[in-house]
Amino acid sequence: MEEKYQNKYTYNSIVVGGGIAGLTSAAYLSRAGQKVLLIEKNKEFGGLVNSFIRDGFHFDAGVRALENAGIIFPMLKDLNIQLEVFKSPVSVGVENEIINIENINGLVKYRELLIKLFPESESEINDVIKIIRKIMKHMNVLYGIENPVFKDLIRDKSFIFKKLLPWLPKFIFTVGKINRMNMPVEDYLKTIIKNPSLRDMIAQHFFRNTPAFFALSYFSLYLDYFYPKGGVGKLSEALKNKILECGGELLSETKIIEVNADKCLLKDQSNICYKYDNLVWAADLKTLYKILEIQGIDSKMKAKFEETKIKMLQNRGGDSVFSLFLEVNEPLESFRKVANGHFFYTPSKTGLGETHRKELNNLLVNFEKVTKVQVLAWLEKFTKLNTFEISIPGLKDPELVPPGKTGLIISLLAEYDLFKEIEKAGWLTEFISELENLIITVISDSVYPILKNKIITRFSLTPLSIENRVGSSEGAIVGWSFEKSMPVVNKIQISDRSVLTPISSIYQAGQWAYSPAGVPMSILTGKLAADKIIKNEKLILQKGSTNA
Ligand SMILES: Cc1cc2nc3c(=O)[nH]c(=O)nc-3n(C[C@H](O)[C@H](O)[C@H](O)COP(=O)(O)OP(=O)(O)OC[C@H]3O[C@@H](n4cnc5c(N)ncnc54)[C@H](O)[C@@H]3O)c2cc1C
Repeated sequence: MEEKYQNKYTYNSIVVGGGIAGLTSAAYLSRAGQKVLLIEKNKEFGGLVNSFIRDGFHFDAGVRALENAGIIFPMLKDLNIQLEVFKSPVSVGVENEIINIENINGLVKYRELLIKLFPESESEINDVIKIIRKIMKHMNVLYGIENPVFKDLIRDKSFIFKKLLPWLPKFIFTVGKINRMNMPVEDYLKTIIKNPSLRDMIAQHFFRNTPAFFALSYFSLYLDYFYPKGGVGKLSEALKNKILECGGELLSETKIIEVNADKCLLKDQSNICYKYDNLVWAADLKTLYKILEIQGIDSKMKAKFEETKIKMLQNRGGDSVFSLFLEVNEPLESFRKVANGHFFYTPSKTGLGETHRKELNNLLVNFEKVTKVQVLAWLEKFTKLNTFEISIPGLKDPELVPPGKTGLIISLLAEYDLFKEIEKAGWLTEFISELENLIITVISDSVYPILKNKIITRFSLTPLSIENRVGSSEGAIVGWSFEKSMPVVNKIQISDRSVLTPISSIYQAGQWAYSPAGVPMSILTGKLAADKIIKNEKLILQKGSTNA
């Protein structure tokens, strides 16, 4: 592995993966004065927090808006990064009923919306609303103070005494409550609501088996969304600039294909090697375990590594997403009249029922025998009954579109395996085009008739594009699937352990390091990994000076 290895490629810390987690780690490590290199396989940094421009339209390639979660703003403040942001209010709609959620009263409107659609289930709806309200209180505790990980706890005594100490008992109480709501949201709702369509309206846009607390906490998160001026990618750009300002080095278009744990070496696609004292792996974890060479390391670490590797490789990435991007010849005002720029819309109150689970599973199990016509018939039903996340960047920041025009991103959760099978069968392009047509038909027949004949250009990203672009197993967008036992830490009170791997010089960060994940947890783990390295280095230095 040492073919092109030279001294100039030696670093205190190397971070692999320039998504939001890797950017955070590298920013903190370089701010601490380390010699740092951040390696990213794509030309651009940001991973799933990335924006791009096409024909003058700005689009977000991954996440559509950001939740502070008591993490992002404290991180920006701590790193002294100025980022201009807008609030990003959410709308929720089913059939003709659409509500804008601007504040806590949105929950009252949500209750009314559900009762209008399912008047016979009023008392069950009241029960769910009560639970969501309780969860919102828990969320106010969880996110109620700036996350202490981003505070200077040695110098900021006022934060410790006025905020942290009074908060801690409430936090411990809340964590206990959360852990009791860890069952899949689908099963949890069954204990309260009889009507499967109503259950679907509340939960069908969540990932399979999402823990109930996480899913039902989304109402709080709706109120927390914000949007950086210029697009979500501006957050990644700001972190990238911070790394450079602190003397860190960035290397793009470089894919790591081998890690040698014993020699602390990385090899890229051109066989160039890089030496590290500490490695932060902030990319897909299955990839790390597949390419990690452990010959020569201590036998105890080796055994632990093999055990963890089995767990990691047995597991799957969670649900993926299909996103349709539209450039539309219609002004923003026409869309503003209908809903906010971040909109969860379900055209039919029937609900997906078994369409997305049992029927899809049957198709996949018998894929060799299934005809194209059968797949497309399923797809039509799937599209008509689904919930869409519709993002209109121009409604959040009007400068993101050419005058008089609108860009839309319409997405729905999509099964990686189906796209993979269809690709193998050789008709992926046809399938994608059909799915794009169906989405346009469903959306223009329901909520946005203004789309008809106004689309200038369309293109899409599939679960396979996500896998190719960011190297995410099964095209997952928030890390591990909730369906099996979790191979990483999934309890907030021990989140600092999530960044440890069986190899002492290798740390992990990002959406694969902790579950449930998303942008805030990716940032948090990025910071936690950096903190561990900085602390260890200090200890080594102290030991060195005492020995001397
Ligand atoms: C449509 C969509 C909607 C979402 N909505 C939300 C939401 O509402 N709220 C929320 O919190 N989150 C949301 N997310 C999820 C969120 O965007 C991700 O969980 C988060 O951005 C993950 O960050 P990360 O740094 O861990 O991983 P990534 O962004 O995947 O970054 C990993 C990076 O590593 C690079 N890489 C991979 N392999 C290698 C290699 N071998 N060598 C070098 N580089 C490599 C990749 O190119 C990538 O840049 C959404 C995502 C999508 C796609």
